[in-house]
Amino acid sequence: MSSKRYILNKKRKNILTRNFIGNTPIRRCDYLSSIYNTNIFIKEEFHNPGMSSKDRPALFMIEDAIRKGKIKPGGTFVEASSGNTGYGLAMIAKEMGYAAKIFVSKSCSLEKIEMLKSVGAKVEICDNSNGLHDFYSTQFKAQSYAANNLNSYFTNQYYNSSNIKAHYRTTAPEIWEQMKGKVTHFIAGIGTGGTISGVGRFFKEKNRNIKIWGVEPVGSVLSHFLSHRTLPEEYITIEPIEGIGRTFIPGALDINYVDKIFQIGLLDSKSAAQEYKNITGFLVGFSSAAIIGTLKKHINDLAFRPTDYVVLLFPDHGSRYLSKLYSKNCIANEKSKIIC
Ligand code: PMP
Repeated sequence: MSSKRYILNKKRKNILTRNFIGNTPIRRCDYLSSIYNTNIFIKEEFHNPGMSSKDRPALFMIEDAIRKGKIKPGGTFVEASSGNTGYGLAMIAKEMGYAAKIFVSKSCSLEKIEMLKSVGAKVEICDNSNGLHDFYSTQFKAQSYAANNLNSYFTNQYYNSSNIKAHYRTTAPEIWEQMKGKVTHFIAGIGTGGTISGVGRFFKEKNRNIKIWGVEPVGSVLSHFLSHRTLPEEYITIEPIEGIGRTFIPGALDINYVDKIFQIGLLDSKSAAQEYKNITGFLVGFSSAAIIGTLKKHINDLAFRPTDYVVLLFPDHGSRYLSKLYSKNCIANEKSKIIC
């Protein structure tokens, strides 16, 4: 090996992608702070190497599986994902000498599918992500793939305690330190529930009065479950905001640490993304737009005070949703109805 090549390889030990997961910045958002007359901060998770918060659980789940001997070197990590966990898993797996097989639902953006393929993941598109009881769901197919293929392991983020642990051990303490313990509200979208449960638990242990609020799309069942402890008698179709919303209660959601879950529609989220981009020049991700839309829609329930410190978690970036949120084909008319 030439000496130049050797130096590169030696250095590479220090530049392992997985060593750069976490420690993302938090910034005060002057625009939202001025609208709501309070202090609003954004935890910018798109600074992770895989450009989403889901790198954190991906790393925890992979390390846990390897530590417990669930998979041997060269094996395949299998997951059902709206794209972000899948990308984190595939990126880390590749670096560690494993493969990845990711089942996504047909609502997954083209950008995310291309990203998954670019890190070597095998991608399969399924009808829905309705959970393990539905034969056509991403979760069912991922589970059966892992059961039928040697040396493959289903990380099962919806029921894997490493998902919550990743946020309890990394995301939450980071925010706490960055805010110097000055947090009155934490708001995050809910998909598997890992983020809100891990961060919620950490914050409630620090101070029971910190409000932990979730965001889900219209049609999702989690807010109903939080209020009634039952599933709704009638289901309506979930408005497809990528990464959030469920037809079942994931094991990774611990509602003991969630105070309230707000619902937001697809069109309100899309118009929030466009408005935010027009004013700040920044492209927010789909579920981040749902959080911004929630602030606007539910303004009367928020009751923020000027002395509050509100942290919003933005899991990823708008570049993942150009075709769905920002392309010229997405036309907003004055009633904020967006045709896409
Ligand atoms: N937003 C996006 C874009 C996501 O990919 C996810 C993960 N599905 C979430 C929000 C929700 O995070 P969690 O799974 O931790 O509830």
